[in-house]
Amino acid sequence: MSRPAVMAPERRPTRQIAVGNVPVGGGAPISVQSMTITKTADVEGTLAQIYALAAAGADIVRCTCNEQAAAEGLARMVPRSPVPLVADVHFHHEMALAALEAGVHGLRLNPGNLRKPEEIKLVAAEARDRGVPIRIGVNAGSLHPELYKRFGGATPEALVESARMELAYFEEVGFDDVKISVKASNVPLMIAAYRLAAETFDHPLHLGVTEAGPPPAGLLKATAGIATLLAEGIGDTIRYSLTADPVEEARAGRQLLEALGLRERKGLDLIACPSCGRAEIDVIGVAKQVQEALEERSLPIQVAVMGCVVNGPGEAREADLGIAAGKHRGHLFIKGQIVRVVPEAEMVEALVAEAEKLVAEGIEARLAAADTGAAAEAEADRQALFASQGDDVNASEARVELIRKTIRHERNGSTEA
Ligand code: SF4
Repeated sequence: MSRPAVMAPERRPTRQIAVGNVPVGGGAPISVQSMTITKTADVEGTLAQIYALAAAGADIVRCTCNEQAAAEGLARMVPRSPVPLVADVHFHHEMALAALEAGVHGLRLNPGNLRKPEEIKLVAAEARDRGVPIRIGVNAGSLHPELYKRFGGATPEALVESARMELAYFEEVGFDDVKISVKASNVPLMIAAYRLAAETFDHPLHLGVTEAGPPPAGLLKATAGIATLLAEGIGDTIRYSLTADPVEEARAGRQLLEALGLRERKGLDLIACPSCGRAEIDVIGVAKQVQEALEERSLPIQVAVMGCVVNGPGEAREADLGIAAGKHRGHLFIKGQIVRVVPEAEMVEALVAEAEKLVAEGIEARLAAADTGAAAEAEADRQALFASQGDDVNASEARVELIRKTIRHERNGSTEA
């Protein structure tokens, strides 16, 4: 649906690499990544998860390559995957070489546990010859022990130095088809490390708060770190690392980018009022029903559910479509204009039906199809509600008078005592 002009943050300029057919950096749309949790050797199970991740919004998927059977699985999955595949490699450089043989679209190497310069250079030279990019995936939890000692811990400087050293090995063999991550599970450390990396390198940055944990706390931690950096224009590809079904990671990544105006909306954006004493319906319950019905239909639309008609349509006037409750009826509105008034029991059904028509026919056509008299009916409900509730739903003036009386009484009482 049409959106107002969005002031997305200005992006940090970087060079561009390509992970398969997905460009990363250099002004490309910020991509969403996730990682499978199946055994990579289980080709059918892993492919099913890759398809689920792609459907949830992942542009790139990573699979562990920890054993020969995993590399063989990758070889079988590469031609069948809907998105580029990256092999995650720790400790064993031969697994990186095997993944390259499998035809993966990218490698992730951890400089903290793959430390022998000759092996690193061998992998980089092989990736160079095959035109496959590598992510230098530094992680505070598995920082190279010498750097840990030299910097007195996993500081932002130590994380960036680890990436710089790896890059130097790559450069020795003429390879710099690289993106960089400097992840930590501590959010302030992660933010500081990426800010320093952004000042130090012009390579694309892969953002993530590592081992963020289960939702909702994990979602909040990851969002705090990733969103802060994105809002500063830092970051070219992102991954939520949640202790959860990875589909949640992909969905969260996509939703964050959409919320920041950094990717085109693919799905539902539900606005719902928090409810208050004026609410005429169970806002939480209705919002949940609407969310389920519209997500099932994958409609790219912004919908508002508002608890009352006194403030609802006005406050949600930017939404493509909305419903506000009043006097046992629901007021359906498009871009703030009332188009239909329906009985309360039919609110959700009417909203979903209108959402489908709106996506199919467009805003102008649906405004033209508005019920005549709907606006007048709605205004009558609004006035009736306003008259019954007034503009003081908490009877605050009467309460203020009572408070004053109570205090006067207590003060006089204590003086008398
Ligand atoms: S829309 Fe109505 S019910 Fe919802 S928070 Fe605002 S005043 Fe309260």
